[in-house]
Amino acid sequence: MAEQVVADLREKCATPPSLLCDVAAAMADEMCAGLGKEGGSRVQMLLSYVDKLPTGREEGLFYGLDLGGTNFRVLKVQLGGNDKHVISCESREVAIPPHLMSGSSSELFGFIASELAKFVADEEKGTSLSNEKTRKLGFTFSFPVRQRSVASGTLVKWTKAFSIEDAVGKDVVAELQTAMQKQGLDMHVAALINDAVGTLAGARYYDEDVVAGVIFGTGTNAAYVEKANAIPKWEGELPNSGEMVINMEWGNFYSCHLPVTEYDQALDSESLNPGEQIYEKLTSGMYLGEIVRRVLLKLSLQSGIFGEIDHTKLKTHFHLRTPHISAMHHDDTPNLKIVEEKLEEILEIASTSLETRKMVVEICDIVARRAARLAAAGLAGILKKLGRDGCVDKHRSVIAIDGGLFEHYAKFSKCLEATLYELLGEQSSKSVVIKHADDGSGIGAALIAASQSQCR
Ligand code: ADP
Ligand code: MG
Repeated sequence: MAEQVVADLREKCATPPSLLCDVAAAMADEMCAGLGKEGGSRVQMLLSYVDKLPTGREEGLFYGLDLGGTNFRVLKVQLGGNDKHVISCESREVAIPPHLMSGSSSELFGFIASELAKFVADEEKGTSLSNEKTRKLGFTFSFPVRQRSVASGTLVKWTKAFSIEDAVGKDVVAELQTAMQKQGLDMHVAALINDAVGTLAGARYYDEDVVAGVIFGTGTNAAYVEKANAIPKWEGELPNSGEMVINMEWGNFYSCHLPVTEYDQALDSESLNPGEQIYEKLTSGMYLGEIVRRVLLKLSLQSGIFGEIDHTKLKTHFHLRTPHISAMHHDDTPNLKIVEEKLEEILEIASTSLETRKMVVEICDIVARRAARLAAAGLAGILKKLGRDGCVDKHRSVIAIDGGLFEHYAKFSKCLEATLYELLGEQSSKSVVIKHADDGSGIGAALIAASQSQCR
């Protein structure tokens, strides 16, 4: 009975190369459809209004603010100009109190502005700001916004664990600017971007062959550099650079080729955003632990494999988190001691047999492997759209990836990389590089604030 549940899962989560090629092709098609016209695809392909990326020549003091899904970070960076790059960078991370994720817009931005003001005060203690110039801030806001300029954007919808009704449709820069004013903080938002755009910018600052920035953290998203004349839906004047960074919002990608199971369907229908962000729900950190929890619950109820246990914890949504499944999945002790501990600590499942623990590891493996392989197919889709998936092109193509899932879940990132090379084939793999961009998203915003305020 238990074996049957696992065998079913294995079969339903299978991602053979042919399926991944279909997913990659569908991603490339959706990209074209989304660029073609507003609302042309579930993949929104939003214009970021970032038409030039940092070059390494930027100079001066800039602040960055990164609001992701779990924490936010504030940072202060001193740029040296002339390829001296970052001279110094100070940062602070603050957890977002959960009640603010579903409160009001002014409460959330008020909290952020007050933390930012504290950081600035601490950083500038004993120094005097030269010429009393207004400080410049790059704001990384990792939710879908519709932009009309590089320093403004209205929130389209919330994703991940956020749900603050009164912020939807509002300009998040204006909200932040008002909140900063209330704090008496003299700071100007020079750029609004998201973490994928920030990762792209942060990596491009050091390496001009970077073509895309991708996030696998609480959620997932991708941004890449598109030729301005390949964006039919764009009505404005074309930028001098001839390029535009596209914020794909690929978390909302869907294709009939995606291997969606009963567990995923239930997770989706009970989520804050049913029917949306299906690709994100299959591939990102917020959800992988939750999928495994649902499988373990079914396993327990159908087979009794865990014995007579209290199911309260196992029935609690999001109680098993991705870092927990990562710890179990990487357990290399001979008797799976870590799996034993985690099951007991987190789910109150005690006295498991080694066989049962092996089964739990296999479930983690199936769910994480599917995520990593689908993630790789998405990357292959971008390369396909850019015409960089063939072996004729000698151009180096670097994809910068950031996010807690990619950074900390080694089996996920290894599998992602191996799968991308499997899909590209030996020849084209030689020109494609995956790079871990450590905290591009925070610094990227400050870099874009710098390049936008200096080159115009
Ligand atoms: P955000 O997306 O909020 O900016 P991060 O990029 O820091 O945040 O990613 C946080 C996510 O990374 C968490 O939600 C979690 O799913 C995942 N994560 C963090 N640590 C680990 C870990 N040790 N193993 C696996 N996943 C992890
Ligand atoms: Mg982040």
